[in-house]
Amino acid sequence: MEVDKMDENDWKYHGEGNKSLVVSHVQLSRVLRLLKYPAEDSENPPQTAEQAFRQIQNIVDFSSNVMSRFLGQKFIHSGEVVKLPLEFVRQLSIKVQHQRPAWRCDKVMDIYSGCALCLPNLTSPALPQPTHTAPLCIEIKPKCGFLPSSKHVSKDIKTKVCRFCMHQHYKVASGKWKRRSLYCPLDLFSGNRQRMHFAIRHLIEEPQNNFKIFKGGQCVYSSKEGSDDSVDLNSLLHHLRPYLLHGNNRINGHVSNKAVLHDFIQVLVNALMGGGGVGADRRGEGRSFCEASAFNRERIRHGSQGLPSEGVLFRILQTQMLDTLDIEGLYPLYRRVEQYLHDFPKERSRLQIDGPYNEAFLEKLQKCPSEDDGSVDYAAAKVHQYRVAMTAKDCSIMVALVPRSEGEDDEGQRWLRDLISSRTPAFSYSVSILDLDPKPFESIPSQLRLDQKIVSCYLRTGGALP
Ligand code: ATP
Ligand code: MG
Ligand code: MG
Repeated sequence: MEVDKMDENDWKYHGEGNKSLVVSHVQLSRVLRLLKYPAEDSENPPQTAEQAFRQIQNIVDFSSNVMSRFLGQKFIHSGEVVKLPLEFVRQLSIKVQHQRPAWRCDKVMDIYSGCALCLPNLTSPALPQPTHTAPLCIEIKPKCGFLPSSKHVSKDIKTKVCRFCMHQHYKVASGKWKRRSLYCPLDLFSGNRQRMHFAIRHLIEEPQNNFKIFKGGQCVYSSKEGSDDSVDLNSLLHHLRPYLLHGNNRINGHVSNKAVLHDFIQVLVNALMGGGGVGADRRGEGRSFCEASAFNRERIRHGSQGLPSEGVLFRILQTQMLDTLDIEGLYPLYRRVEQYLHDFPKERSRLQIDGPYNEAFLEKLQKCPSEDDGSVDYAAAKVHQYRVAMTAKDCSIMVALVPRSEGEDDEGQRWLRDLISSRTPAFSYSVSILDLDPKPFESIPSQLRLDQKIVSCYLRTGGALP
């Protein structure tokens, strides 16, 4: 990709989140991730081009030097910062505008800095050899998979009902979503196949912003925010059916919708469980049940295998658990740092509050003493740990699946790992983690406020909602 010969016609709208807009190349397996900022600032960018460059470089550094140490290099593609011609970015923003969902248009794409993050397109992976069937990619934003056990937690409900399930009530009460999702992250992270299956079924039924499916790089299944319509399961089945016709679950030559969906979820559970090292996380069972989960514990027929220690879910959960104090225990430490920076503003760079996210940052966070010695260094290290955990609670997993043709030779190909079980068809898969931006230091007070709002809303309405 030559940045001085960029043509907006080679790029198309791919998707967006709260912080960035993503366009994909029409031929190459590449995406550009551009920053967004509030529409009311559209005439006045909130930062200079240099600052935008620094911000994106920080994202790359945080992902490659910090998050990859916790999550495992093999899952992470940190990408690189690119400087693009301003005219190209302007044309691109005009081109994609009409494809953007209305509810995301409270923010505009940054057209002033010319900076972007260039990443491999994980929904249209470059395959070692051409395949007959387009890859199927499933994006899951799993959110927080454990209940806090910190002594600083002031409301008992937080140790019983998980944050995601409580947040669902708040989102419905505030009108963000029409229906509550019955997905519970504690089920997904349980390492029990039945619970994981149940969790994924509910992600499919109410995807919100936690679940998307891409076919050949195109999003074919997702939620429309604010819309009354429920998702179109029939259209999903139409897409999935050709991939799942080879299971041994035919009745008179016909595979039922139920069987297609069941096998699809099974393949996904297998991919999420893959990774070698068995049963490292058996604590899952028993302690990690969310009282709001719709999963009936009495239905468990098989013991938990536990999450494999090299698998993607275990790595994400471990990283999320760097939040040992809960926001309630962390906030006073944040205040200690804040007060100190108020008195000694120059210390901000020594404490690496805004990066650089390098080895020294990692060391600060890893060498944190287990007891609070009252120092600002202790407080800063806990804040750093909390921020890493926040990123792990907000990241997405991308599972790319390619059907395997009979007798395919997978020798030496990273891509090809067997997913054959007696019931499910054979797929090769690859798992990645995306969206690993550092969360700003300044966002911590709003985390505390949000936590309080969610808990009080749940206590007010929780049992009452259907
Ligand atoms: P959030 O609101 O979740 O924090 P964000 O603004 O940080 O989102 P991303 O999640 O990184 O943005 O990107 C938005 C969407 O673009 C993703 O959900 C995913 O569907 C798509 N996307 C991002 N990076 C890639 C990639 N490397 N390959 C393919 N698709 C991608
Ligand atoms: Mg995201
Ligand atoms: Mg993000």
